Amino acid sequence: PVVEYRVVSIVRDHARERGGAPAVTGDGRTVTYAELDARSSRAAQGLRAAGLGAGSRVGYVGKNAPEFFDLLFGAAKLGAVLAPVNWRLTAEEIAAIIADSGAAVTVVDAEFAALASRLPGRAVVTGEAYEEWLAARPASDPGHTGTPDDVVVQLYTSGTTGVPKGVQLTNANFAIGERMARRWRLDGSSVSLVPMPLFHIGGTGWALAGLYAGCRQVLVRDLDPAALVDTVERERVTNAFIVPAVLQFMCQVPDAGGRDYSALRAITYGASPITSEVLRRALETFRAPLFQLYGMTETTGAIVQLEPEDHDPDGPRRHLMRSAGRPYDWVELKIVDPATGAERAPGEPGELLVRSSQNTPGYWNRPAETAALLAGDGWLRTGDAGHLDAEGYLFLTDRIKDMIVTGAENVYPIEVEEVLASHPDIVDVAVIGVPDERWGETVKAVVVPRPGASPAEEEILRYARERLAGFKRPRSVDFVEALPRNPSGKILKRELRAPYWEGMGRTIA
Ligand code: ATP
Ligand code: MG
Repeated sequence: PVVEYRVVSIVRDHARERGGAPAVTGDGRTVTYAELDARSSRAAQGLRAAGLGAGSRVGYVGKNAPEFFDLLFGAAKLGAVLAPVNWRLTAEEIAAIIADSGAAVTVVDAEFAALASRLPGRAVVTGEAYEEWLAARPASDPGHTGTPDDVVVQLYTSGTTGVPKGVQLTNANFAIGERMARRWRLDGSSVSLVPMPLFHIGGTGWALAGLYAGCRQVLVRDLDPAALVDTVERERVTNAFIVPAVLQFMCQVPDAGGRDYSALRAITYGASPITSEVLRRALETFRAPLFQLYGMTETTGAIVQLEPEDHDPDGPRRHLMRSAGRPYDWVELKIVDPATGAERAPGEPGELLVRSSQNTPGYWNRPAETAALLAGDGWLRTGDAGHLDAEGYLFLTDRIKDMIVTGAENVYPIEVEEVLASHPDIVDVAVIGVPDERWGETVKAVVVPRPGASPAEEEILRYARERLAGFKRPRSVDFVEALPRNPSGKILKRELRAPYWEGMGRTIA
């Protein structure tokens, strides 16, 4: 019979087999696997004493810190579900999400202690109060194992295209964790950097793979590019998952290229598009193999991977650097016509659908969105547009919601962004559709100039004209100091679009 792995087994197995090995470093301390096992058992007992049990939700509002893992495994030891919330939201939004999740207990980071009284249910603030709460209970594991279909965490999507949705992820969704760790070159000797927020899959998924492998996670509390560069060097980090926006800022840190990265085995990036320019700079700066991942919260993170050998900017297969890679063995992909659902041949564009053990059973409390997400027969709609080539490489164009329809033509912003990013006076760029009486929409570029440079709109339009088909060229340029991004480093295009579409009767998704 197939042995179905449970997320909770990660801590139980490693505590037994390598209890003294470090599991998590954060806020200046390191917790071993045995300590994590004991702390999570105390958390489980504390939650049980508060009346929680199988299926209950436990809230967490905090930055990346060791407590997150006490709670994740503590909840799992009881069959309860950790529901971490993005601390960058407003107090009202956070309270609404905690209410939506139904969490009766929420652990709140001491940095946000003022939130505690504003949340429904009971709040425990990290630091002294939390340590006392843990110490009050015995370190005995309640022993829940559960089924493959039990939900373990409820992670909210990034909210790039709308309100964040709570995605339920089960033991079965994470059961490939060990194979995933291998594909990411993580093993027991790795030192894995966890800079992305643990309330998103880019943080949790990455950290759980490292824990499956039995290595040490180095948690990053605040995303400061210079501090990150220091941490990679000082902690002798071997592996890291870093989103393109952060990678780009790290490459810009003075002397970033002159550090000792001899311990680095690979840098893994993903979660949003990357330009060839950033890829090239990252290769030069870190001199380490690069992996790209593509996935979404709804697929428990990565389902597609681009290998280091496909990152050769000057090789004969350099076009692959525009690809997100190929699906894992246990993942099926297909491209369909978004209107009819008919499957497309290799090379033809359409919407990407995925079928895999990583697919979520659905959103929490959102039956309509769940129905729209699940296409039947195990297939899940990603909302991403692209094509597959004859070898099975996935080339993403854009989110279907970000595509610009100008006249009868479809423009994929990413193609235009890629061209403009190569302009020497541009450091960051987003391309959006704005209303146009004649064409419905036209292409606009929102540009962050290089510090000290002030390129003229005319010059940028000319640059684009020489390199892009007529209908793809931007017709106007806005200059800004920075682009609005969410914590996953994704550009919030709906925010950029909003002022132009106000009162236009089109829903800005
Ligand atoms: P929301 O669903 O709330 O709008 P979101 O889709 O940004 O937010 P996530 O689940 O964190 O929330 O992100 C998944 C999306 O990120 C994918 O659907 C895709 O659009 C984008 N993405 C992920 N990996 C890549 C990649 N390697 N290249 C380009 N885009 C990517
Ligand atoms: Mg999404």
